[in-house]
Amino acid sequence: MAKRRIGIHLSTAGGVFRAAERAHEIGANTFQIFSSSPRMWRAQRLEASHCDQMRRLRKEFDCAPLVIHASYLVNLCSATELFREKSIEAFRGEVERALALGAEYLVLHPGSWKGLTRTEGLRLAAESIARAVEGVRFDDCDFRVLIENTAGAEFSLGGSFEQVAELIELVRGIVPVGACLDTCHCHVAGYDLVSEAGYEQTVQWVAGTMGLDAVRVWHMNDAKAARGSRLDRHQHIGRGTMGLEPFRRLLNDARFAHCAFIAETPVDEDGDELRNVETMRALAVGQRTKGSGFRD
Ligand SMILES: [Zn+2]
Ligand SMILES: [Zn+2]
Repeated sequence: MAKRRIGIHLSTAGGVFRAAERAHEIGANTFQIFSSSPRMWRAQRLEASHCDQMRRLRKEFDCAPLVIHASYLVNLCSATELFREKSIEAFRGEVERALALGAEYLVLHPGSWKGLTRTEGLRLAAESIARAVEGVRFDDCDFRVLIENTAGAEFSLGGSFEQVAELIELVRGIVPVGACLDTCHCHVAGYDLVSEAGYEQTVQWVAGTMGLDAVRVWHMNDAKAARGSRLDRHQHIGRGTMGLEPFRRLLNDARFAHCAFIAETPVDEDGDELRNVETMRALAVGQRTKGSGFRD
């Protein structure tokens, strides 16, 4: 089987490049970070030496792709103009930092259109992305903005594959773009990844909307809440309402061999990051449940 890219969201405490060292320590060959605090408008500045160090370590450890998750504050389809303007500026910073770090992907939540119609929200999100990347050149790099599907909460854009596909269509040609699908979000939004027939149907649904090639990252999160609940609470892989099977299928599905599989699971105790990565690695080589990183 082709080598799978398996990793997890990691802390950048001590310098952004430290995440590459942490990834290597836990046996991850891809990882995700925030390039600045995800809950503060004022962005941290990245030191050029730290960016160099990140490139050097990733090469040394064969760690790719590097995925950046955009700040939670960014809402590119906010009905409030001031908030939208701040979001556009913040997102531009996200793109600039991602390029400075040599990241392949920048994951973006499409936003909340509360106070507008969904169609207006979609149009505004696309327009805001276009404004944020004005003048930025993407020629010489392997970079894409990935639109993430959401849990389907009221007013949030991207709760269905159709909505993710629509936004991708609107910004294609403006910025290199693709999709990030989150297993927990799929599940609580009502898609079936758990039953065998449901999984196949869901994959066909992805193929018929954004297309399988557009999917570049799978966020590998089990769910605390029930399917269709629209409640976004991540759980350790195999420990939630989804169980191990969906993760085993995704990791062994040749149609997603080009994707990176990145957990955003809780860190409840020491070793949780290692255990979730090990669980995925065990599933990827087709081992049974007892090969999971968690003790039963
Ligand atoms: Zn996610
Ligand atoms: Zn989530």
